[in-house]
Amino acid sequence: MSAAVSDIAALIEKSPTSVHAATTVAEELEIIGFEPVDLDTEVCPDGPYYYRDGGTIVAWIQNRAASNLRVVGTHSDSPGFKIRPKPERFGAGLTTLGVEIYGSPLWNSWLDRDLGIAGQVIVQGATAPELRTINIAKPVCKIPQLAVHLDRAVNSNGLKLDPSKDLSPVLIGDSDFIELITTYCDAQPDQILAWDLSLYDLNPPTVFGDPESGYLSSARIDNLVSTFAGLLALRSVDSTGSEFVPMLSVFDHEEVGSGSNRGAAGALLKNLLPRTLPNVNALGSADLSLALSVDCAHATHPSHQGAHEPGHEIVMNQGVALKSNANQRYATSLTGERQLREILENEISLQPYSHPNHIPCGSTIGPVLAQSLAIETVDIGVPQLAMHSIRETCGAKDLADLVKLLELFWKA
Ligand SMILES: [Zn+2]
Repeated sequence: MSAAVSDIAALIEKSPTSVHAATTVAEELEIIGFEPVDLDTEVCPDGPYYYRDGGTIVAWIQNRAASNLRVVGTHSDSPGFKIRPKPERFGAGLTTLGVEIYGSPLWNSWLDRDLGIAGQVIVQGATAPELRTINIAKPVCKIPQLAVHLDRAVNSNGLKLDPSKDLSPVLIGDSDFIELITTYCDAQPDQILAWDLSLYDLNPPTVFGDPESGYLSSARIDNLVSTFAGLLALRSVDSTGSEFVPMLSVFDHEEVGSGSNRGAAGALLKNLLPRTLPNVNALGSADLSLALSVDCAHATHPSHQGAHEPGHEIVMNQGVALKSNANQRYATSLTGERQLREILENEISLQPYSHPNHIPCGSTIGPVLAQSLAIETVDIGVPQLAMHSIRETCGAKDLADLVKLLELFWKA
């Protein structure tokens, strides 16, 4: 059996955008017998199903005898840059592209990288506009930094980036953007109507050191590692005789607040639950029900320990972080944590994460799930360095631990 880190790295490489990530999940689910269903599916026999919409995918193992829900929530999107509707700008003999910032990427980490383009395009078909998913997996863009000779104070004063001019990628090799995407859409230029296309780093994931105890360096660790750890765990679930329905919910748009029809704050789960899981109701009163919101956590940066709460060091490869926050930026409730600890029976080490008072705390889908499902929720995740960098780092052992944790969570 290969190490979790190798499996997860291979799945991340196949998934440059949220839509590709949901496709990767769907393909892997179909291999193990999950069947796609629509939102209006009223009743289906017990078994594994999934519902998918763009970058969001929800998979569960239907069980009419069960009246509880064990849901793992993650997200498929990552911060970055999306190409504007009228992107081309010309100057100095080159074409640059206008981009919108999506979420909160660490801007500087995107400079001087070999970038591909991926996402979806609306193409005018013979009878109607059609949605096509594309992946231009070759170096076509680059965001060049100004040379140090032309910005002499950059190293002493620090890099300051103006998002209106310093983050525009140069289209390298191809001078016509529409022509470029036309090739990948199997269409003519006048058939291209619109797109949702993102830049991404072509550098493949790297495993540092031993696959059991080393590190993963990759784009989109936040939060594809949690998504694919959920997928790996779901593969080994045997829900025969289970009192709960195991569910993996992978949502798009977390990095921009989850407020969309496919986001965790949308009505998707509310609409899906009564139709497809008729016996799973009154979740708040069902004592075996629990939601795990799984998203990456901040490992303590060795050179910036003052950015972390004293006494709450989080170390990669020393356990999955359990995140709590008095202001409900993380949803962990004491009741939920008690339930989780009972399930885990001390088999997995947990590192308590607590955010310092002097920096506003980030959030994730945990509070959103807790609010919409009225269910006990716990926020957990693997520790990582450089969250929202184009190249993040996390521990290989933590990934294996997370898969094991999720297997225990779903064990009947
Ligand atoms: Zn995240």
